[in-house]
Amino acid sequence: MKRISILGSTGSIGVNALDVVRRLQDRFQIIGLAAGKNVELLRQQALEFRPKIVSVADSRGAIDLRSELESRGIRVVCGEEGSVEVATHPDTGIVLSAMVGAKGFLPTLKAISSGKDVALANKETLVVAGPIISREVARKNTRLLPVDSEHSAIWQCLNGAKKDTVRKLILTASGGPFLERDLSSFHTITVNQALAHPNWRMGRKITIDSATLMNKGLEMIEAHYLFDEPPEKLDVIIHPQSVVHSMVEFIDGSVIAQLGISDMRMPIQFALSYPERWENDLPSIKLTEIRKLEFFEPDLQKFPCLKLAQQALNTGGTMTAVLNAANEVAVESFLAERIPFSGICHIVESTMEKHNPVADPSLEDVLQSDLWARTRARESVVHMQT
Ligand code: NDP
Repeated sequence: MKRISILGSTGSIGVNALDVVRRLQDRFQIIGLAAGKNVELLRQQALEFRPKIVSVADSRGAIDLRSELESRGIRVVCGEEGSVEVATHPDTGIVLSAMVGAKGFLPTLKAISSGKDVALANKETLVVAGPIISREVARKNTRLLPVDSEHSAIWQCLNGAKKDTVRKLILTASGGPFLERDLSSFHTITVNQALAHPNWRMGRKITIDSATLMNKGLEMIEAHYLFDEPPEKLDVIIHPQSVVHSMVEFIDGSVIAQLGISDMRMPIQFALSYPERWENDLPSIKLTEIRKLEFFEPDLQKFPCLKLAQQALNTGGTMTAVLNAANEVAVESFLAERIPFSGICHIVESTMEKHNPVADPSLEDVLQSDLWARTRARESVVHMQT
């Protein structure tokens, strides 16, 4: 029996993870659930899965839940401290880290520090502080289990291969909804158009990141830390069908790919069942119906966010935390219709240009850089509006 806590249980990954648990009830026990503002969905999840502890973002939400859940023996907590309590609960074996954004970093770090294995969906954790997380994983001898479909694919392709046999990790990208759109009309892109991803149903922030290709840049940084490979061994190729989830090229020229349907329940289940592989009733892939698999180079002029992420990865230190924080502010501002779609990249670029990166940063350096970048990015948003 795997004992699991989920950070971000009310989000796209959280809901898919609970469906995996629902389908394999005899294999999992839910210990804790942490959510943000969706108190009603958390209430339903708590009544169905009977965890020992739940957490919501603010105290008002906790008050609403307390009377109903505490009489059933479910402890209700709130805020960042609450998420940390869920992540470190003594009965938890694996924490699924699936909050969105840099706020997922601290509870994930605390989970590792208390000796838990972490199934990682929250890529921002590694973008913000990859070296700190990697050191803590090594110090506590725990595991980071990839959930992102690309990283799950690479992990499965590597299958324990010797590091010196790997030539390249090849991350595939669908290219998002604007792959075929002319750059000259990018300034007219609406929020609804950007949220209409062709292949995947996901939360709002990652869907916008997929439309700018920033998501693929964040994934390169994530892959760098997860697999301990240098930037020059990481490649991105566009693959609009999202059938090949990613690949590994070996030194003899062999390329091993992982294929599957576009359904996050597959990589979530693999991370949670690891090192075993369990049967499920998800549909099989129908390759003869798909017929065509295409691959081509990303257009960095059209999608400059990918280039910025590559630059941040090459610079290292606090630059990746700055990239992430500026991007979070810019994406929120686009979703609130305060800046145009093309403004996202400008905000990130101008924030990175102003930053003096700290090499080999401490936790304090990382947190300060994150705050600094959010302030600079918000100033740029205001400037862009005037
Ligand atoms: P969603 O926006 O759908 O969900 C985010 C979750 O985080 C929600 O449960 C939300 O709670 C919770 N949350 C937000 N703020 C807080 C807070 N202050 N305290 C506690 N919980 C909070 O995002 P996704 O599920 O799409 O993505 C989650 C992560 O997984 C991201 O890092 C993303 O990049 C990554 N990922 C997602 C994939 C996908 O298919 N969706 C694929 C690969 C990676 P509430 O809704 O209650 O406010």
